[in-house]
Amino acid sequence: MTTATLQEPAAGFQALSLSPPILAALNRAQYFQPTPIQAALIPHALTGRDVIGQAQTGTGKTAAFLLPFMNAWHDTSEPGPQAVVLAPTRELVVQVAQEATKLAPSKQFRALAIYGGQRFREQLIELKRGVNLVVGTPGRVLDHLGRGTLQLGRVRYAVLDEADRMLDIGFRPDIERILRHCPQQRQTLLLSATLPDAVLRLAQRYMHEPHHINLSPEKPAVDSIRQSYFTVDEDRKFDLLLRVIDRENPRQCIIFCQRKRTADLLYRDLREQRKRVATMHGDLAQPIRDRIMQYFRDGKIVCLVATDVVGRGIDVTGISHIINYDLPEDADNYIHRIGRTGRMGKDGVAISFVTPEEGERLTQIEICVNMVIRQDQIEGFESFRPRVKVQEEAPKRAAPVFGRPVKRYSRRL
Ligand code: AMP
Repeated sequence: MTTATLQEPAAGFQALSLSPPILAALNRAQYFQPTPIQAALIPHALTGRDVIGQAQTGTGKTAAFLLPFMNAWHDTSEPGPQAVVLAPTRELVVQVAQEATKLAPSKQFRALAIYGGQRFREQLIELKRGVNLVVGTPGRVLDHLGRGTLQLGRVRYAVLDEADRMLDIGFRPDIERILRHCPQQRQTLLLSATLPDAVLRLAQRYMHEPHHINLSPEKPAVDSIRQSYFTVDEDRKFDLLLRVIDRENPRQCIIFCQRKRTADLLYRDLREQRKRVATMHGDLAQPIRDRIMQYFRDGKIVCLVATDVVGRGIDVTGISHIINYDLPEDADNYIHRIGRTGRMGKDGVAISFVTPEEGERLTQIEICVNMVIRQDQIEGFESFRPRVKVQEEAPKRAAPVFGRPVKRYSRRL
């Protein structure tokens, strides 16, 4: 183990009784103050008990669940990983492994990301060299367990990151099987933005008297994000997008589409018109996705056309704009999408394209974010053809009532 000397104490973290090598790593990463989830979760996890942390992405939850394990880690040349983190998407897995490497207490500490789409052989070589922390998608971790190329018999720290999302994707049987490969005498942490029954059942079965920390605000924290929508006909969306990009001049933006095919077509058209455009969706080969993610993180890509599967996990602080080229099907997804901007206290802009048929969906989103989203327009550009003739007296538009249950109604845009 290297003994790190602490030059500039990571002031806020010292109160959490972290070891000098960890404090030194925090200094190098320029993390000087713990975020609320870190301040709340780390002390409980350091006592060795199981913890459920309810927190949104972008709040520093990754370091919150990594630090307690890394703090206790010593280089004993123990074979096999001593910790395993399961996460729902490949991108998230890569991010968690990168964060672990960034905050590692010593050069000997090795974290490995394993996920589908990446060659088995390479993962195998790395696993044979010996790793301390495995971060993986459940499917690929299970593959390795089945082939006998990964053993979890020495795991003393297991983390389920974005547990609600993993269950959405249908990972439940995989998660359960993986946890059964880990010793019962282990510490388990579960992180989730929401705590639906399925997550609580998982917690009951696999955790021991967990301490519960809830830092998810009652209403999602989207206040710092400037939100607006355009009413737009489907066949005017592309022209509108070009105008919005010109007007907003985003530092970096994600343009969300509902389907892979729409993402592909939009990418094809957009790259003819604008520079530094890329697309990312589940059909692309993993090495390509990794490369695009890296380019995006490095700021080489300005507009990333993405689907939800890959877009949700992206944590890039430079994202100034989220454009919902297609409105998401449910309101929670809207929150997850727009949460890619406005990270770590920065301001962000979220612009949604809403077709005249999607009024009710917009209303559901407004109820969820507890605000009326401002209608936007571009001077001189007609984004939709009015369907109804001008009436003598404009019909009164029902407004959503916030703060109490709201009846569903359909709304004409
Ligand atoms: P996460 O919610 O774990 O995805 O973290 C969001 C971003 O915050 C990541 O880019 C982290 O590197 C960064 N971060 C996490 N903790 C801190 C901290 N205490 N101070 C500054 N940045 C942090």
